[in-house]
Amino acid sequence: MRKLLLVKYAPEIFLKGLNKGKFEKKLKENIKNVLGDSVYNFVVDQGRWFIECDNLESGVEKLKRVCGISEICIVDEIDSDMESIKKQALKSTFENHGKTFKVITKRANKSFPGTSMDVSREVGAYILQHTEKLAVDVKNPDFFVNIEIREKTYVYSKRIKGIGGMPYGTNGSTMLMLSGGIDSPVAGYMMARRGVKLNCVYFHSHPYTSERAKEKVKELANILKKYTGSIELYVVPFTKIQMSIIENCREDELTIIMRRFMMRISCDLACKHNINSVTTGESIGQVASQTMEGLVVSNDVADRPVFRPLIAMDKVDIMDVARQIGTYETSILPYEDCCTIFVPKHPKIKPRVEEIRKAESVLDIDALVKESVENTEVFN
Ligand code: ATP
Ligand code: MG
Repeated sequence: MRKLLLVKYAPEIFLKGLNKGKFEKKLKENIKNVLGDSVYNFVVDQGRWFIECDNLESGVEKLKRVCGISEICIVDEIDSDMESIKKQALKSTFENHGKTFKVITKRANKSFPGTSMDVSREVGAYILQHTEKLAVDVKNPDFFVNIEIREKTYVYSKRIKGIGGMPYGTNGSTMLMLSGGIDSPVAGYMMARRGVKLNCVYFHSHPYTSERAKEKVKELANILKKYTGSIELYVVPFTKIQMSIIENCREDELTIIMRRFMMRISCDLACKHNINSVTTGESIGQVASQTMEGLVVSNDVADRPVFRPLIAMDKVDIMDVARQIGTYETSILPYEDCCTIFVPKHPKIKPRVEEIRKAESVLDIDALVKESVENTEVFN
């Protein structure tokens, strides 16, 4: 008998018709990348992936973060005979704490005697005979005992949920505006989970924002990397732009004008690196610049789609996701970011495009953008 990992991918991928192969290929490549050298056998058997690897437990931990996987199970591979199946099925019930179970049999190997129902019934009876506290519940069991009969037979009852979504790298690319806060890493995760390749841009206002604030953003990108593989982080010098705005514009318009610069630069970098879109961690109404009017005014300077996956989420729900994906603890470290140090006391809540265009026209926008883009540092 040997133990293997059984990987099931998100049902959505099944629905891709002729394109299914493309998604499967990418997912397989991503799985091999995270498991590295520990994989020594990868068998595809009728839509099921069986992976033989060194350390199953750590394999599960890694696969739990692979976009596109819906479930991972550690399965026992045994000979396809009824005695072995019954014994193994009984053993697998010890891994669960539930009190009720249901046996589910899939008989891909049609030469195996009896129907799937026959096998389930016989195995169920055997489990009941050899345990004291378990009962069968076919409608709403605490756990399932799964039996898949193929050339060999696979038995498992513990199922570990994957993150679902689409294989990373199958749905275009985005430039994530990554600040040190709670929201933007969550926004990035949500896009990555849908298969969108991430690149990150961070606006750094040295010396108003410290080296540690930059390190914090790098650390956040590093955490996101667990879901994506390598990510490029563009660090844009932003001090000169902020100082020019402060010197030349009205205080209540500082934030919105600053946000337009961020948007322009993000689009410029995206264009330069062939990236289709921009993503932010904005959520409607969260702060003054995230009113409907504010979003309209910052979108005004974008030359490609801007995605805001958190737009309709409450802060508490965003925080939950941040904890789940492991970015929360880093996000709440207290290093100031470039927005918080230049916050006006009464920012405009309902800016208008015409008005802001006019207000910022006193600045040499193209030259400022160009200089920042040219002095951008890239980290991988
Ligand atoms: P977050 O928690 O992501 O920092 P926030 O609630 O602090 O968001 P804002 O500061 O208004 O909100 O920023 C809104 C969005 O703009 C952020 O989610 C992020 O996408 C982007 N952003 C803000 N500051 C920066 C920065 N210094 N570098 C890169 N992107 C930024
Ligand atoms: Mg912020």
